[in-house]
Amino acid sequence: MRLEIKNITKKFKQKTAVNDFSMVIDANECVGLIGPNGAGKSTLIQIIADILNADNGEIFLDGKKISSMKNQIGYLPQYPNFFSWMTAFETLSFMGTLSGLEKNELQKEIPLLLEKVGLGKEAHLHVGTFSGGMKQRLGIAQALLHKPALMIMDEPVSALDPIGRREVLNLLKEIKKETTILLSTHILSDAEEICERFVMIKNGHKIEDATKLELLERHQESAIFVMIRKADFQWLTMLDHLPYVKKIESCGNGFKIHVKNLETDANCLIQHGLDSKVMFTKFEVGIQDNLEEIFLELVV
Ligand code: ADP
Ligand code: MG
Repeated sequence: MRLEIKNITKKFKQKTAVNDFSMVIDANECVGLIGPNGAGKSTLIQIIADILNADNGEIFLDGKKISSMKNQIGYLPQYPNFFSWMTAFETLSFMGTLSGLEKNELQKEIPLLLEKVGLGKEAHLHVGTFSGGMKQRLGIAQALLHKPALMIMDEPVSALDPIGRREVLNLLKEIKKETTILLSTHILSDAEEICERFVMIKNGHKIEDATKLELLERHQESAIFVMIRKADFQWLTMLDHLPYVKKIESCGNGFKIHVKNLETDANCLIQHGLDSKVMFTKFEVGIQDNLEEIFLELVV
């Protein structure tokens, strides 16, 4: 499985919802498409699902145009619609028939699938009685019905309460073991738990594509956090005169020393401290924001 998104652009009248967007997803990846409301996530996802046509650009799955590979894709829309008077079993049976699956096959597969998404006991309850998390898990079952190679999900957990969110995240952790996943969200922490790679979108543009580690490294502050004994505080006043020290601020129980070049200056600084007989109780090179802060920095 290899999904190639090439230079996709989509306009609605004057509004460019997706702007020259390209990325590749390989088999077994779990990728988070992350961006604030209105960034273009749903538009892009609908184009990948071949529900919406792009104005420009192309999408290939295993080198073939997406329109001929639809059966390889499972799609969970942002707002899945169900008939409240159907049971979970009937819903999947109905949807499966619509997408051309054999009745016999469905009779066999649906109970297994409902079991998998944790709705085995609720198979014959009306969907109208389901919680948000249960509906979302039914939506995931529907998207998995034809055993797709790639699952694309539009904000699968954003609208759920903490319990529903937990249920769905746990289910996705299982599904990602056997299926490639692309999911969108405007809440980074939702993706942080299950995705290895984060693609950020803002005003239709791709602004970042990195693993968690890369993101943290890339947005690392050039600063060193030190904790020293009170008796050594005098040393800090000496640092002000060093050419590579830009700024010193107090930070919790220690101090943040901003430098020009993290790697070389950290060594100079520790040497300077040792020469001045300072005892360090903590010396931490490179202060990392958490992912949420990086996300806010990027998209706001
Ligand atoms: P997201 O899913 O990231 O919140 P969308 O893809 O839904 O963003 O929307 C991206 C932009 O395109 C928004 O400004 C939105 O108002 C606009 N847009 C989306 N769908 C339509 C449409 N059918 N007609 C007009 N504008 C649209
Ligand atoms: Mg959306």
